Amino acid sequence: MKEVRFRSVADVIERLNPSYPVFMVFPEILKDRARAFLDGFPGTVLYAVKCNPDPHVLRALYAAGVRHFDTASLPEIAKVSELFPDAHCYFNHPVKSRGALESAHEVYGLEHYVVDHIDELDKLCDVVGTGITVEVRIATPKGAAVYNLSSKFGAVPDDAVALLKEANRRGMRTAIAFHVGSQCPDPEAYRVAMAEAAVIAQRANVPIDYIDVGGGYPAEYGDPVPPIETFFSVVKAARAELKLDLPLYAEPGRALVADGCSVLAQVQLRKGSDLYINDGIYGCLAEIQLGPLKPPVRALGRRDGRCVPVTGEAKSFRIFGPTCDSLDVFGVEFELPDGIAEGDWIEFRRMGAYSIGMQTAFNGFYTDTVVQIDGHEDIV
Ligand SMILES: *Cc1c(COP(=O)(O)O)cnc(C)c1O
Repeated sequence: MKEVRFRSVADVIERLNPSYPVFMVFPEILKDRARAFLDGFPGTVLYAVKCNPDPHVLRALYAAGVRHFDTASLPEIAKVSELFPDAHCYFNHPVKSRGALESAHEVYGLEHYVVDHIDELDKLCDVVGTGITVEVRIATPKGAAVYNLSSKFGAVPDDAVALLKEANRRGMRTAIAFHVGSQCPDPEAYRVAMAEAAVIAQRANVPIDYIDVGGGYPAEYGDPVPPIETFFSVVKAARAELKLDLPLYAEPGRALVADGCSVLAQVQLRKGSDLYINDGIYGCLAEIQLGPLKPPVRALGRRDGRCVPVTGEAKSFRIFGPTCDSLDVFGVEFELPDGIAEGDWIEFRRMGAYSIGMQTAFNGFYTDTVVQIDGHEDIV
């Protein structure tokens, strides 16, 4: 099937006149972000597939040189392995079913697995055996991140030391992993977590193959965040200070893909300063509620077949999603031109992360229109 491609967001509006939400992928932006990470991070870069598993996105990252993927389920492993036979998948979920482990090992040949509990290590030995690398996931302090990922996973230091010793005793290779929390605007969080990893490595006193400093790097949704290079410098400096003479891995999700996609939603009704649109918290815009994050927006219209910016004085709008559920409204208001009317569109920008991968089919509202936009749209 020949893929239909678009030159710009205006081109999408002019050719499709879409009354359904459209997920827009900008491969050139994705490639830029991936290259910045691959060139700047002092180690191996894994893309965290859960952040956006769309094949257009995966292909753009692969084209930029990403060859390692953080996968958490068999469908993610299958998708990456089938798209890119030479890619390396890592099973980085601390809780895995026996069936998934068996297929990951037997069918896809995975060699790296995360654990944070002795029973999971036993399960791993039982199903997969000992000829693999075990990454012990450690808990990190709750810092400035929007999402704390150590409230669910991560071994405390004594348990992490015991897990590393036990894995080593059983003849497995060992590594240490952590995740400082998603949308973490504070580079120092990585230094703190690396210091913790260094203490654990020293106490365990077994060979450690690498430290995986995880994901968490922020995207700029409104509040300014430090440039990604600052995170790389802090990680490099911490490795030197802590004399951690080990290879490093990173698992960015958001920082690679947030800037590279937009959601185009249409206004179905305006009631004063309330707008009812066709995507919402059960769709690709779930994270606006969960974060709550406030992505940049712009309003576009179609007049005589041409796409034009909506004009008028900036005004605050409450925005409702399409489902009948009264929870389907954003907790933050958005500033849009007062000229906005039924039939116009709102482009929610920097929506590459935790968007299309999180939508539900609740109430019959579901987007399956993904388009690729070539060239550099003036998105950032
Ligand atoms: C979600 C996740 C990531 C990606 O996190 P971001 O905040 O999107 O960078 C990386 N590693 C693991 C284990 C994850 O669960």
